[in-house]
Amino acid sequence: MLRHIVCAGLTALVLAVLPAPAAGQAPPLDGAVAVTTGSLRHDSPAFQEEAALDWHCLQAAYPRLRRMEADGQGRLWLHLADGQRVLYAAGQPAPPPRHPHGPEWDVDVRSSMRQLYVPDPERPPTPAGQSPGRRRSYALLQALYGSTARETASRVRRVSFFRQTLLLEESAARALQRVEARLAPLVAARPALRRYLKQSGGFVWRAIAGEQRLSPHAFGIALDLSPRLAPYWRWSALRPHPLQASYPTEIVTAFEAEGFIWGGKWHEYDIMHFEYRPELLCKSRLLLRRQQEAGATPASGPAPSPRP
Ligand SMILES: [Zn+2]
Repeated sequence: MLRHIVCAGLTALVLAVLPAPAAGQAPPLDGAVAVTTGSLRHDSPAFQEEAALDWHCLQAAYPRLRRMEADGQGRLWLHLADGQRVLYAAGQPAPPPRHPHGPEWDVDVRSSMRQLYVPDPERPPTPAGQSPGRRRSYALLQALYGSTARETASRVRRVSFFRQTLLLEESAARALQRVEARLAPLVAARPALRRYLKQSGGFVWRAIAGEQRLSPHAFGIALDLSPRLAPYWRWSALRPHPLQASYPTEIVTAFEAEGFIWGGKWHEYDIMHFEYRPELLCKSRLLLRRQQEAGATPASGPAPSPRP
């Protein structure tokens, strides 16, 4: 189902960069990428490689994205099926945030995907600045899920999670059902896991606690589990919190396998928080696999950034 490929060179690069996806991972490219790079300021091979990888994972995660296209002024945009467009990159990526909150956490899509989210069983240290996935493109969230309470509410539905009911956006709800299917036999074998699985809220139109920005809960893509056990960074003086290391890997692994990131991997930790960001898991798996195939040690320290 293509469309047109303006830059055949980039497509060839994509195919060269990406290994064949395994079952359950990102689907192969279907030729639906249309990218014009001639006028892009950052048209180096490294940028093109990064953009191609991001595009592959974005399209796999969000089928409503149809193409990535430059505008002739050095900006690269994501175009949605309904005609909306969202900024992927304009010039240099956003610098790392200097404060734990504020406008620096709302970035373009490229910047939102630059810090590698390392899946379990790895639990990289979380010094200041290490919060993969906590920077978000609000333009993308709004384009995908709505920009008002009414719009986002129209996209959520009830979903059951271990006999508890919550509201989530449709694709996140389906993913949560798959998480439960993965977890159910593990919980049956180890009932002590149940205490970590008390749901405490999915969709709700609200800002992030202590901040102005909307919470991912406002888009219906996040849920909180057992907040009495699993704290939020503002509630504790501990940096890091010991539960960031000891939280059951069975739970984190099940969520990550279905496209949810875990807030326990952030410096500003949110240990109760799971957020549906399948593009980040897609990207990290492909990069880590490529690293392993090249004979490098899997990331265990601060996550590497793709080259600028
Ligand atoms: Zn949350």
